[in-house]
Amino acid sequence: MRKEERYKGVLDWFEKNVPVAETELHYDNPYQLLIAVILSAQCTDKRVNMITPALFRDFPTPEVMAESTPDVIYEYIRSVSYPNNKSKHLVGMAKMLMSDFGGIVPSDIELLQKLPGVGRKTANVIASVVYNKPAMAVDTHVFRVANRIGLTNNSKTPLETEKELVKHIPESKIPIAHHWLILHGRYTCIARKPKCEDCGLKPWCKYFLTVKI
Ligand code: SF4
Repeated sequence: MRKEERYKGVLDWFEKNVPVAETELHYDNPYQLLIAVILSAQCTDKRVNMITPALFRDFPTPEVMAESTPDVIYEYIRSVSYPNNKSKHLVGMAKMLMSDFGGIVPSDIELLQKLPGVGRKTANVIASVVYNKPAMAVDTHVFRVANRIGLTNNSKTPLETEKELVKHIPESKIPIAHHWLILHGRYTCIARKPKCEDCGLKPWCKYFLTVKI
């Protein structure tokens, strides 16, 4: 199957069957989403959503967070993975937002990556979810699902996957395609045993057509 045909089939299927796909993290503004995404590294969205209400209540702005300390923040986030590093990142991020960005979360991917705790994936999530930019954040689900379906050719790195997906997916669909692939990886094309029998992508899926049969 030609790559164009595969992309078209997969995107059309998602568009028809998953018209709404959004992040499962709870947030009300860009600052809150940035906190939630930093906390979600190596951790489930469900766990993050359990602890952010108290954090957002007591540290409602970057200004307030910047005046806190990692030790104080640690107590709020101790149940997520890597709470030591993440509490340092959150305070550092808030301080830099105040000192360099006027308290506003930037939209530029390079600028976002200057913030403590913000790598390329997190920067792409913020750019795409908050600012609707055509940025593809590649997490473990996007990486695996893209390779399995054959949207990428056994890509070796998240950056390779990002470049390949951005090359083939129309700009306007990149933000939602990120969520399509994450949700598909989380609930259907799961890591250990993909639920191919329940999956509507079978007609275009390289793994299903070549490996599984
Ligand atoms: S057919 Fe199977 S391997 Fe392919 S996308 Fe669906 S669940 Fe994943």
